[in-house]
Order: sequence, then C-alpha cells, then structure tokens
Amino acid sequence: MTTSLYARLAARFPDAGKTFLETADGRMITYGDLQAESGRMAGALVKLGVKPGDRVAVQVSKSPEALVLYLGCVRAGAVYLPLNTAYTMAELGYFIGDAEPTVVVCDPKSREAVATLPEAAGVAAVETLDAAGAGSIVDKAAGEPADFADVPRAADDLAAILYTSGTTGRSKGAMLTQDNLASNAEVLVDYWRFTADDVLIHALPIYHTHGLFVATNTLLMAGGSMLFLPKFDADQVLALMPRATTMMGVPTFYTRLIDHLGLNREVSANMRLFTSGSAPLLAETHRAFEEKTGHRILERYGMTETNMNTSNPYDGERRAGTVGFPLPGVSLRIADPETGAELPQGEIGVIEVKGPNVFKGYWRMPEKTEAEFRPDGFFITGDVSMIDADGYVHIVGRAKDLIISGGFNVYPKEVESEIDDMDGVVESAVVGVPHRDFGEGVTAIVVLEGGAEIAEDEVQARLKERLAAYKLPKRVFFVPELPRNTMGKVQKNVLRETYADTYKG
Ligand code: AMP
Repeated sequence: MTTSLYARLAARFPDAGKTFLETADGRMITYGDLQAESGRMAGALVKLGVKPGDRVAVQVSKSPEALVLYLGCVRAGAVYLPLNTAYTMAELGYFIGDAEPTVVVCDPKSREAVATLPEAAGVAAVETLDAAGAGSIVDKAAGEPADFADVPRAADDLAAILYTSGTTGRSKGAMLTQDNLASNAEVLVDYWRFTADDVLIHALPIYHTHGLFVATNTLLMAGGSMLFLPKFDADQVLALMPRATTMMGVPTFYTRLIDHLGLNREVSANMRLFTSGSAPLLAETHRAFEEKTGHRILERYGMTETNMNTSNPYDGERRAGTVGFPLPGVSLRIADPETGAELPQGEIGVIEVKGPNVFKGYWRMPEKTEAEFRPDGFFITGDVSMIDADGYVHIVGRAKDLIISGGFNVYPKEVESEIDDMDGVVESAVVGVPHRDFGEGVTAIVVLEGGAEIAEDEVQARLKERLAAYKLPKRVFFVPELPRNTMGKVQKNVLRETYADTYKG
C-alpha cells in the first residue's frame, strides 16, 4: 500500500490535461502542470539541503505557487509549516526558533528582516515568493527536472506542522502525519460525495487547516477543479457561482452572501454543496441561507489538531445549530472535564476524540501533549458540547470560555442564544470578566441591527424571564461589530481584555 500523503492524493489524479485550478484573472493550471511543477519544486528544496523530516516554514500570500510549494515539500519528504500572513517579525522569530526550519520562504518584502532574525541563524536558505507567484524559490524550481522521484515516507511520518492560534500562552505546533491528512481527505471525499466533476470555490486562506487540508486535499483527492480566489469577495463569489458545484466557507462567508442582493436560487442553481466550519454557524444564518437559495448549509466541526471530527449528513437532516455526527473512523465521547469519565447522553461536557485523524502531539512539547491526551489515547479537544437524543453533536463553546460566576457554571452559548433571539439583535458574545464578589461577572456584548434601539436594562429584564438569576449579564454593552479573526472566530480573549475593568473599583 502507498502510504505517503502525496502518493495517496496522486493515486486519484485525473488526466494530465484536466484543469486543477483557475485563478480569478484566468490563469489555468492542469493536473499535469501541478505534477511537473511540484516535482521541480521538490528538486529545488532538496538542492537547498532539505532532508526527510526537515521543516520548511512558509509565510506567503495565497497563490497557486504556494500550493505547488506545499506539494513540493511533501514530495521532498519535508514537513510543511505554513504561517499566517498576519504574523509579525517577532512572532516569526518565535516560530523559526521553535521549529528550526532548514528553509524559510517569505514575501520578497520581508526577506531581509527574516534573514537577519537572530533565530534564523541556523536556517540554510531564506527564499521568496510573492502574491503574483514569482520569487527566488520559483526561479530555482524552474531549473530542475519535472520527474522528481518522491522521497518515501511512512504513514506515521510528519507531513506538516500547523501552529495553533494560541489565545493564551505560547502557540503550539500541531504535528500532522501523512496518514492524518490522507485518511481525513479520503473520508471527506466519500462523506461529501466529491468527484472529478466538482468545481470548488476556494476563497479560504491556505495557511490554515480549513483552506489547506479540508478544501485543497479533499478536492485533489477527488481530482476535481477549483476556482481559486485570493480572498473572499461576495461579488466575485457570486459571479463565479454559476460555474461551481461546491463551496467551503466560514460562517462570515454566508452572512456576507445573505446580505448581498445577488444571492438567490438562480445564481446557486448549479451548486450541490455548501459547507461551513471553523466557527459556529448561527441557526438563523442556516435558515436565512436556505430561504434565499433553497440550499441547507452542511456544518461540520474540526480543529487544527484533529482535522475533521464530525459532519452533518449529506443525505438526511442537516440540523441547524449542530455539527452533525462523528465521521467514519472517529470515536467521539463527551467527558467530564475533571475526571475524564464518559458522561451519559444529553449531558454537557468536553469532546474527546480518537482516530486516524488525530495529530501526533505538539512539536517539542511532550508535557503539553501528555496533558491533552487521556491514557487511552483520546485527545481532549477543549470544546464543550452535548449530544442530543438523535446523536447530533451540539457545540456549546470552548472550555476556557466557560464562565464561573459565584461558583455556578454559565455556558455563554445559552445566554447568547437568548439575546440573539430578541428583535433588533444581530448577534452577541457573552464573556466572564473579573468580579470582586462573584469571581467572574457575566458580561454581554451585543450588536444591534441598524436603527434598532434597546437599552441595557431592557435586555436584562427580558433575559430575567428566561434564565436563572446567576446566568444574567451584570452588564450589557453595545458595539457596532464583534472582533473576529480571519477564520471568522469571535475573539473572546479580546473582549475579556476590553471589559476587564468593568467590575473593578
Ligand atoms: P482551528 O484549530 O483554528 O481550526 O480551531 C478549531 C476550533 O474551532 C474548534 O476547537 C472549535 O472550537 C471551533 N470550531 C470549528 N468548527 C466549528 C463549528 N462548526 N462550530 C463551532 N465551533 C467550531
């Protein structure tokens, strides 16, 4: 059996002449081009001194060449290490010092600064790649033969390290093996019925698991084609939609599309599947999208460390506000966060998962790794959840977002759902901030619809009819929008900082 990620992807590649990718400005890349260019890229990396297991750190804009670089890395037996383009030089220094890559590829504009970082002293080469797909690494690849003999890799060898966003403490490098990535792509192709006829709208970033692995690996494994956009732009996505069959998105893609006058049944008539993940999709967004298009968004749940864990069904009910069922091969249980004991169905606890999708551990952090796995091999995700009577998994929030007020546990999602149901409210976030009497004070941050006026005490009075007193927000603040990261996640850590002094004094 072939074991390496690339061999398992390429085993299903279609004819060399078939389009793999088309860019917004009309550039076409065929599967034959992809195979040849990634071979040249692998050759260039080996010539730069990359040996099996070496890390190649990459901080570049989204371009087809960045995908060629990803595949070139895995074919050369290297470990691909993509970095968010938003990271500062100081953050880059940390990642380079921690991962000790052999090669760093960055934008030409930051080459000088990267090369002179003290942490980069041991790096063999700092190469460049710009947003247009040009750079020193592409020039080097051009001089190499296309027929590279892939460096053999075992199923358990690393293919990539992705640093988690790390809202507290140091960012951790999740070690993903060849089999973690390949097995998850195989499952998703089947579960979501991807075929070579699919045309995927790709508007996600490619330094994150969603755009790089869920979208790209799945599409590659099916031998489909993609419409490759530098970023999400509702006008552009709607213009391309009649030519596409599928889109993978974060919830903000869907709220922006719903707000666009161009979204309707006709424009989405050729689409067979819209998926959402990386952050919770409001049930209301699910319903509004269906009203406008007739499509029920398929919500799924995963994380950098585990790839995809659950999905709503392809056939059967896609239940709004849930992330569906464990995927084939994934064992999932809801456990007591303190003891790890499995909880009865219907109770709220932390999701723990085990399966071929689950990562190998955190890079050079054996204690952190040990702390996040149970002795029987289940990984503690930190996502608080419950499973309903029909087996659908409902995510309630992150364990670290749980509020303990006066000794009582308050799940933010429960309070947020009540606020979101009020007329005039777009959305809300509920966080705990230090409170001198209660330990933490429940605090709501609310976004109102344009023109809506609701007073703080009105929100509190309405919640009082619905929720136990200890769950009521002690303060309610109104803001024009919630802080979100590029994957659409509400940054609760930012809110906790902003409102940290609310109950002081
Ligand atoms: P990341 O590692 O950046 O992909 O973030 C993973 C985290 O995103 C998970 O642990 C969840 O907290 C959250 N997440 C991913 N998908 C969903 C979803 N469909 N609903 C709610 N939260 C999600």
